[in-house]
Amino acid sequence: MRKKIVAGNWKMNMDYADSEILISKLLSIYKESAADVIIAPPFTNLLAAANTLKGSAIEVAAQNMHFAENGAYTGEVSASMLKSIGVQTVILGHSERRAYFNETDEMLSKKVDTALANGMHLIFCFGEELNDRKAGNENLVVENQIKNALFHLPEAAWDQIVLAYEPVWAIGTGETASPNQAQDMHAFIRKTLADNYSWSLADSVSILYGGSVKSTNAKEIFSKADVDGGLIGGASLDAEHFIAIVNAF
Ligand code: PEP
Repeated sequence: MRKKIVAGNWKMNMDYADSEILISKLLSIYKESAADVIIAPPFTNLLAAANTLKGSAIEVAAQNMHFAENGAYTGEVSASMLKSIGVQTVILGHSERRAYFNETDEMLSKKVDTALANGMHLIFCFGEELNDRKAGNENLVVENQIKNALFHLPEAAWDQIVLAYEPVWAIGTGETASPNQAQDMHAFIRKTLADNYSWSLADSVSILYGGSVKSTNAKEIFSKADVDGGLIGGASLDAEHFIAIVNAF
């Protein structure tokens, strides 16, 4: 049975004090849920978040990491640095990293390899832009993004991978993919995994949806058979909204 997961991507929001407040609110509101819960604060707040949440049911993830083990990469953070502060999961391939920091499939493939070699878990993001969807190319774009970064991996590596389908046109725009659009794409992704690996592998991989998920639309999106949870941006900055989304399962 694959896992249900709700992950909050804080992006470049929340200074140290704000982060402490948000985490303590999350801890006071959150009880138990059918979904695993992950939050991804900015790097400056990761150590404190990891310490505060140690032993709790809320896991901490990083929003990015470099593909090199260490070295002359000013401003970057490595997998072993993340692990040294108790962070075992990293988000890779977010559309904002692709668009504003020129992260290519090739670079992401290297990041994936490094994360896995360090025993980390990853939430791998991908999704088409509006012009791809308008042209009817969304399946092709998504298939290529997954294939280029992930299909060189052996089956065993997939225990450490969660996929996050995030149509770029739905991120931070207030425009959500309809539950049926999300389901259609998730079913396509699962079939693509099955074609390249096997149905048993495809059925074991959690596929999250991301793009303007709110407490008001989460239930319907999460009710779809191939949607195993959400990657939440804006709504993860408010403890009550975020926990309401977690509880939408
Ligand atoms: C995201 O950044 O991954 C995201 C889905 O953002 P939002 O929920 O704000 O659309």
